[in-house]
Amino acid sequence: MKVAFIGLGNMGRPMARNLRSAGLDVTGFDSSTEARAKAAEDGLTLAASAHEAAREADVVISMLPAGEHVEALYLGDAGVLAHMDRGRLVVDCSTVAPSSARTVAEVALARGIGCIDAPVSGGTAGAAAATLTFMVGGTTADVERARVVLEKMGKNIFHAGSAGAGQTTKICNNMLLAIQMIGTSEALALGIASGLDPKVLSEIMKQSSGGNWVLDKYNPVPNVMETTPASKGYAGGFGTDLMLKDLGLALAAAVSARASTPLGSLARNLYAAHSLAGHGALDFSSIVRLIGNVEG
Ligand code: NAD
Repeated sequence: MKVAFIGLGNMGRPMARNLRSAGLDVTGFDSSTEARAKAAEDGLTLAASAHEAAREADVVISMLPAGEHVEALYLGDAGVLAHMDRGRLVVDCSTVAPSSARTVAEVALARGIGCIDAPVSGGTAGAAAATLTFMVGGTTADVERARVVLEKMGKNIFHAGSAGAGQTTKICNNMLLAIQMIGTSEALALGIASGLDPKVLSEIMKQSSGGNWVLDKYNPVPNVMETTPASKGYAGGFGTDLMLKDLGLALAAAVSARASTPLGSLARNLYAAHSLAGHGALDFSSIVRLIGNVEG
């Protein structure tokens, strides 16, 4: 099977590497010279353009920053879809608005090309270890066809519904994660300000009704857990600006669905303030510093 991989950044590069290690014939492309040079170090075959990479491919996978990049890649006369043969498959793993995913899928399906949205959870560590979770939107037939490539990059593949449903699922999950991070930070900051040891407080809350994923895996207070970004100066992990982007998508989805998301809106504003204060590149758990007096 021939695979074209477009977008070889923090996530795409290790994902393409895993496909290649699994024996697939992968040709990559990235618009950045630096990203191309890094992928070449992995031994990846590179094309001179996205069109060249896609021309012979059975499956085109993309992992791009945002919706505008995905639409520019696929749509219009100059887009890749206009030049792909019928029967091929497109798998977009970028996190974009559900409406963008549906537009790309409609154009693809009208041309006889299969298309799924397959955003991921698991971050750069999951991409490197091939343990990503894929949240997939599309027809059952296309999702089944995509399994052979998705299985080589991740360990959980969930079919959420029709085109765009993968993106909606991802947005709901990340909105909940942001709210959980802020709520957990608030409780920990209150405890610290009141003289509690954050390690002891975290352990007790973990075993009590306030227990949640952030306390289990991603404590925002430095040195409570050894391996978290908080204990490494908030480096690595999932950036504040990426969380801000996802919360913006959640807000736009809420407006379009006429849904009420009061805490999601507040979370977006808090992350926007944190980013404007110059912390956009820090891990999203650093929001604890906006909320309380936390060392690190
Ligand atoms: P990144 O910025 O590191 O990589 C994106 C790459 O796409 C860059 O190398 C860029 O040069 C390239 N690119 C942009 N436009 C292009 C085009 N038209 N043609 C070819 N290449 C192009 O971003 P990332 O961290 O790899 O994230 C990619 C996507 O995955 C985003 O949508 C992000 O929200 C999502 N995501 C990221 C993480 C994470 O932890 N980094 C986790 C889950 C989901």
